[in-house]
Amino acid sequence: MRLRIRGKQSAILAALLAVAIAAPISANASPVGEDPKPSAEAAGGGGGGDEQIRQYEIHGPSTAQDRTAIASAGVSVDEADDHSVVVSATAAQAEKLRALGHKLDILPAPPARTGGKKVSAKDFPPADAKYHNYAEMNAEIDKQIAAHSDLISKKVIGKSHEGRDIIAVKISDKVGEDEAEPEVLFTHHQHAREHLTVEMALYLIKTLGGEYGSDDRVKKMVDEREIWIVPDMNPDGGEYDIASGSYRSWRLNRQPNPGGDTGTDLNRNWAHKWGCCGGSSDTPGSETYRGESAESAPETKVVADFVRSREVGGKQQIKSAIDFHTYSELVMWPYGYTTDDTADGLTQDDRDAHAAVGEKMAASNGYTPEQSSDLYVTDGTIDDWLWGNQKIFSYTFEMYPSSSGGDGFYPPDEVIDRETSRNKDAVLQFLENSDCMYRSIGKEEQYCKG
Ligand SMILES: [Zn+2]
Repeated sequence: MRLRIRGKQSAILAALLAVAIAAPISANASPVGEDPKPSAEAAGGGGGGDEQIRQYEIHGPSTAQDRTAIASAGVSVDEADDHSVVVSATAAQAEKLRALGHKLDILPAPPARTGGKKVSAKDFPPADAKYHNYAEMNAEIDKQIAAHSDLISKKVIGKSHEGRDIIAVKISDKVGEDEAEPEVLFTHHQHAREHLTVEMALYLIKTLGGEYGSDDRVKKMVDEREIWIVPDMNPDGGEYDIASGSYRSWRLNRQPNPGGDTGTDLNRNWAHKWGCCGGSSDTPGSETYRGESAESAPETKVVADFVRSREVGGKQQIKSAIDFHTYSELVMWPYGYTTDDTADGLTQDDRDAHAAVGEKMAASNGYTPEQSSDLYVTDGTIDDWLWGNQKIFSYTFEMYPSSSGGDGFYPPDEVIDRETSRNKDAVLQFLENSDCMYRSIGKEEQYCKG
């Protein structure tokens, strides 16, 4: 989850909307989850790993420095404009911010979506049944493989902390061979509550396999690329988020930490400039806890090992990558750890090629393009590692909605088709550029020949 400056008018509109809908949504909102056990650490301000997490709006902060100070209280910054931010926090973390003088307004709890029906534990609520839980996701992928076994295959690349398979789906013509074609990577669901990103993976698998025979652009890319999709990097967190029958706003994985708190922020656990720059937390219980060391989270290490395994003959085969998140409707590129446009290993041409393709994709899907650090700093993210360590062009897509007024992390399942297909052209543009990203700045000859 990252943020952007919205126009003042839309910010005001969003605030009005929030006020307008606050009452009815609260009336239907899920009560406090069944499991909060505020720990001693939570009372002490560290934050209880399993404590109820809620969103709060804070008015006033307007500078990157303000936002960094807020993030350092251990919360995740979910969205921001030029005069307010929305954070996710435990009650203890919210108290800490209040003690620092901030005024916090609690936002509506995640929607219940029971539709008046009995809620079965370990699944999405009845009104959101079109979302795929982990078992349903695997069943859907197996269905697509069965229908297009000449184009789609999968392999288990490792296990989550709780032992669930983490899989990589491969899509290409002659899918059983390792051809000399540019490879690309799509990763999904580092953050547990961002369920729409799993639907994005399923959409890509279904579209690239199913439209091979009918869409010339799809066919050309499946023929000329080797496409890897990791549809679920955080299956433990995703299952935990829905396990009680009401959404828990869970972000992290489910790895226990010393002191009793649970969870590492997978997208602060990557091994490039890990923990360098105040863009993550060293406190277990924080929403941006970076883990004990880089790649200490098994899920991060599994995917990093997979990426390293695509180095063949000393050459990384994966040319470019998109990591899907929700929400805020952004297209972002590295680096996150510094606000400088260029830095170690990121030249002006590298930056310009990232931006040129990023801006074109954003023009297509209507998201806002920007460098990851434009409003605050993050460190240990996948994009910084993919570029900084592997020289893979990397993007983060923050999907629908643009603000918490659109249900934040929990948009209703009615939007799944619209909001996944919204990215079709952007993803095809990405694939079409991925053999030589420097073509986008007119420097194909210089960088991509020979
Ligand atoms: Zn995220």
